[in-house]
Amino acid sequence: MNSFDPSIVKVRSAHFIDGTYRDGLPGLEVVRPSDGQYYAPLPIADVALVDEAVENAWQAFCRSDWATRPPRERTRVLRRWADLIEADAATLAPLEAIGSTRPHKDVLAWDIPYVAEVLRFFAELADKHGGQVAATQHDRLGMQIAEPYGVVGAIAPWNFPLSMANWKVAPALAAGNAVVLKPSELTPFSILRYAELAVQAGLPPGIFNVVQGDGRLTGDALCRHPRIGKVTFTGSTGTGASIMSTCAKFGPKPVTLELGGKSPQLVFADVPDLRKTALSVAMGITGNAGQVCVSGSRLIIERSILEPFVECLQGYFRELRPGHTWSAETSLSPIISRQQGERIDGIVQRARQAGAEVLEGGGPIDGLGGAYYQPTLLSVADSRNPAVLEEVFGPVLTIQTFDDEQQALQLAEHPTYGLAAGVHTADLNRALRLVRSLEVGTVWVNRYGRSNDHVLPTGGYKRSGIGKDLGSEAFEANLRHKSVLIDIG
Ligand code: NAD
Repeated sequence: MNSFDPSIVKVRSAHFIDGTYRDGLPGLEVVRPSDGQYYAPLPIADVALVDEAVENAWQAFCRSDWATRPPRERTRVLRRWADLIEADAATLAPLEAIGSTRPHKDVLAWDIPYVAEVLRFFAELADKHGGQVAATQHDRLGMQIAEPYGVVGAIAPWNFPLSMANWKVAPALAAGNAVVLKPSELTPFSILRYAELAVQAGLPPGIFNVVQGDGRLTGDALCRHPRIGKVTFTGSTGTGASIMSTCAKFGPKPVTLELGGKSPQLVFADVPDLRKTALSVAMGITGNAGQVCVSGSRLIIERSILEPFVECLQGYFRELRPGHTWSAETSLSPIISRQQGERIDGIVQRARQAGAEVLEGGGPIDGLGGAYYQPTLLSVADSRNPAVLEEVFGPVLTIQTFDDEQQALQLAEHPTYGLAAGVHTADLNRALRLVRSLEVGTVWVNRYGRSNDHVLPTGGYKRSGIGKDLGSEAFEANLRHKSVLIDIG
C-alpha cells in the first residue's frame, strides 16, 4: 500500500537536544509541497539555543565515551541505528513524504534503504583508519594519530531531507564526533524521528542534536560558534560562499561544501540503443522534478540523431504523472514551494525571450494545490542563454547540438559549475578522452546517476564545491591528524 491519507500523519514540531525533544516558540509556518497546505509550525533556534545545543554536544563529546570507546563499538551502534531506520519505515516514510517532494513509494523503495546502507558503510569505516607511521630516522618513531574534531556543525538542504542530512551526519559520527545539524526550514520534521531512533540504537544523548530554524539566524549562529570544529554544508553555491566567509571570520575553521550544478549529458550518434539512452537522459532531469544537485540539465547531442532522440524524450515526459507525494500514482514530484515554482518559470520565460525554442512543456501545472512544473525541453543556440547558465532546479532540459567531439566538449564546459557530467557513446576511447577533459567532480559513462555506489565519493569542481561526501574521503574529512615524534632510547 503506497498511498496514504496525509491528515493522519502525526508531526512532532521541535528541536532535538541532549537526546530529547525540545519544544520552542512557533516561528515559521511549514507547508506541504504537494498541496501547499500549512501543516505544522516550526520553532526557530536563536543564538542562545544554538549555543546551548553546541555546548551540550561538547559536554557529551567530552563526558561520554563516544570518541574514546573501541571504534568497533561505534560500528555496532550505527549498524543498530540503520536496522531501526529500516524497521521504522512505516512511520518514517510518510513523515518524509508529506514534508518533502519525495513520493512515498520512492522513499520506501529508495531513500530509506539508502540512508540505512550509507550509515552501515560509514559504520564499517569506524575502525579502519587510525592514522599512520611516518618514515622518520631509525632511532625515532613518528606517527600521525587520527582524532575527531569534537563538534561538527552540519547544514542540510531540502531536496532529499533524510538522505542529504545522513551524508553529513553518518561519517561525522562514525569518526567519533558529536554533531549539531540544522535541517532546511522547508523540510524540518522527518529528521527528528531519525534522531530519536539514534538514541534508541544506543547513541549517547547529546552526541547528535537537531536545531531548527532558517539560515540567516540559526544556520549563521551554528557556523559562528567557537566550539564548532568544522562545518559541513550542502546547498546552493551562494549560501556556501557566505558560510565559508563566516567560517573564515569566526575561525578560521575547515568547511566541506557540496554546492550547485548545471551538469551536461553528452550523447553521441553511435549509442547502441537510442531509446535506452533517451530514458536515462530523461530520468536524469525529471527525477525529483529536477530538484537534484546532479540533475543532467543540459543535453548536448550529435546533430544527426537530434530528431528521433527528442521524440523519445517527449514520449517519456508525457507519461509522467504529477501528483501528491502520498499518492501511489505519482511519477512527477511537486516543486518544493510556490516561490521556487515561480523562479523556474521566470528562468524559462527569460530563456524564451533570449531565443530559446520550447519543444515540450514550458509552463506550470495547475490544479493540484502545490507548485508543479511541466517537464520542459528548450532548444538553445546560444550558450549565454539563462537556461544554460543558471541552475534551474526544476524539470527543464536545454538542448544544444554539436558536429564533432571538440565542439561537444566546448559546449559541455560551464563557466561556473563542475559537479557532474554524463557521456553516452559506444566508443570507449572517446569516453575516456572526455573523462580526462571534462572539468567536473563525477563523470558517468553510459549511465546517469550515482546508483547505490556510496563507496565512490561525490563532490564538485569549480564553484560546485570543496571536499567530498560519501566514500572513505568523507569519513577522513571528519578527522584531524596529530603528529607525534618519539625518541627511542
Ligand atoms: P540553500 O543554500 O538555500 O539552503 C541550504 C541550507 O543552508 C538550508 O538549511 C538553509 O537554511 C541554510 N542556510 C541558508 N543561508 C545560510 C547562512 N547564511 N548560514 C548558514 N546556513 C544557511 O539551498 P537549498 O535551496 O536548500 O538546496 C538546493 C541547493 O542545494 C541547490 O543549489 C543544489 O544544487 C544544492 N545541492 C547540492 C548537493 C551536492 O551534493 N553538491 C546536493 C543537494 C543539493
